[in-house]
Amino acid sequence: MSAEIIDGKKVAALMRDGVRSDVEQWVQKGNRAPFLQVILVGDDPASVVYTGTKTKACKDVGIETNTLVLQDTISARELKEVITGFNEDDSVDGILVQMPLPSHLSKYDVIESIDHRKDVDGFHPMNVGRLSVDQPCFRSCTPAGVMELFKHYSIPVKSKHAVVVGASNIVGSPMAVMLSRENASGKATTTICHKYTKDLTAHTINADILIVAAGQPHLIKPEMVKEGVVVIDVGINRVADEKSEKGYKLVGDVDFEAVRKKASWITPVPGGVGPMTVAMLMKNTLLAAKKSIYPSN
Ligand code: NAD
Repeated sequence: MSAEIIDGKKVAALMRDGVRSDVEQWVQKGNRAPFLQVILVGDDPASVVYTGTKTKACKDVGIETNTLVLQDTISARELKEVITGFNEDDSVDGILVQMPLPSHLSKYDVIESIDHRKDVDGFHPMNVGRLSVDQPCFRSCTPAGVMELFKHYSIPVKSKHAVVVGASNIVGSPMAVMLSRENASGKATTTICHKYTKDLTAHTINADILIVAAGQPHLIKPEMVKEGVVVIDVGINRVADEKSEKGYKLVGDVDFEAVRKKASWITPVPGGVGPMTVAMLMKNTLLAAKKSIYPSN
């Protein structure tokens, strides 16, 4: 068996086309273009690249955006004041604070200081809580993008055994919630594994659907999965590569070449989940502008 490739780049491009045409219609009706405010604290090179990718993609679909770059010495109080200003500004629809933050700032406090109605990353406890009780909310972009991939390829999830490896607040945990809710789209029997799981293979070998978000290059080997498994590799890891000009290459958490021989479907890295994360951010920003999730009184 050789798995079919789940082409996240292609599905994300289709989603972006959809958002672009919705933005056009929204503006034609006399509304202003959606606006995403990005906040970057410090000059971490990876964060500069990520925010650049996101803002370029937004502009491409007609979403206006601005990136405020703040000194990494900013105090928690000063940052909160900046965020409060954007919360109160009616011309700002979505607010994104790029993570990670300098160590003196608490990401939890920063996320909670964003108005949940503008939290297009879906990280605010209000959105996380509403997700877990099937209420409309901004859904964390990466797991929401994975659910879109299942939908696009008509990969059945209902009643399957889904195993999620990784339990972070932004990927693994919301992924498990989306998969497991019986009254929402998931309806899968769901197992969640993390670094304290004693025998990872005992769980992964039983997965019909395996989602890996551990940040461990090539953690998943072919002997850890069963024939026909659907594999979603969320991991993005830099590993040294002398052949590459940059001196490194990106790999996922799954040994792609070996595991694809047993899987029915598999996502590549890059070109799998990554582009879907950016596409979902645009969709969330449009929803914020339209006040679709939280209608104003
Ligand atoms: P994280 O470090 O916050 O969490 C990692 C999780 O994996 C933890 O729950 C940890 O317990 C678990 N884990 C680590 N080693 C493990 C092991 N050996 N066995 C089982 N569980 C283990 O990371 P994160 O922010 O959730 O990101 C995970 C990966 O996904 C990273 O590679 C990150 O770069 C990538 N990522 C990709 C996208 C995307 O758009 N494709 C978005 C976010 C994160």
